[in-house]
Amino acid sequence: MITVSNISLCVLLSVFSLSSDEGKLLIPLKAIDRSSTNSIVLTAIGEFGLMRKERPGIPAHYHTGIDIKRPSDNYISEPIFSIMEGVVISKRTDGPYAQLIIEHQDERGKFWTLYEHIAGIEVELYQPVTPDRPIARFMNTMELDKYGWQFDHFHFEVLKVAPIPLQKDRTKPERHFSSYTLVCYTREDLRKYFHHPLEFLSERL
Ligand SMILES: [Zn+2]
Repeated sequence: MITVSNISLCVLLSVFSLSSDEGKLLIPLKAIDRSSTNSIVLTAIGEFGLMRKERPGIPAHYHTGIDIKRPSDNYISEPIFSIMEGVVISKRTDGPYAQLIIEHQDERGKFWTLYEHIAGIEVELYQPVTPDRPIARFMNTMELDKYGWQFDHFHFEVLKVAPIPLQKDRTKPERHFSSYTLVCYTREDLRKYFHHPLEFLSERL
């Protein structure tokens, strides 16, 4: 028999489950529907797994993430979000290579996400984050004029394996880990270390 107290309990439980973001994945952009990858547009050379030409000091390597275009014409404060709850384990705030690495845990195990060429970082090292509050933003006009408009996107990776611990560096005291970004020289390397970010999102959204 359904009683008033049973109904109240059901309402309470459904409200609770609606407000809980636990384990929920959303795209890292502001969008009308963050449960779909439709709003993710990549730059011309932003695909995962593209071969990137060698440049001084860096041999040719595979592109280990995706380069996501700014979703609007907001050149002041276009927000970037974590795709899931997690904990910030590495942070660098210097210039165009500013970066966050977030560790996540779901029912399948741990994985890590990386956000690079970002600015206005709003989270602290070791801070737990949720996907509903911005962690940073795209570079603004002033920053792009200073660092170059080739950075008018953000680079997003999903790592299958833990990132590489770094030695202490006094110039970047909160940068504790590095990714395998510039060291993937074969398809096997790429598959060993990284998920295809769009496939990863599509499968789990
Ligand atoms: Zn990139």
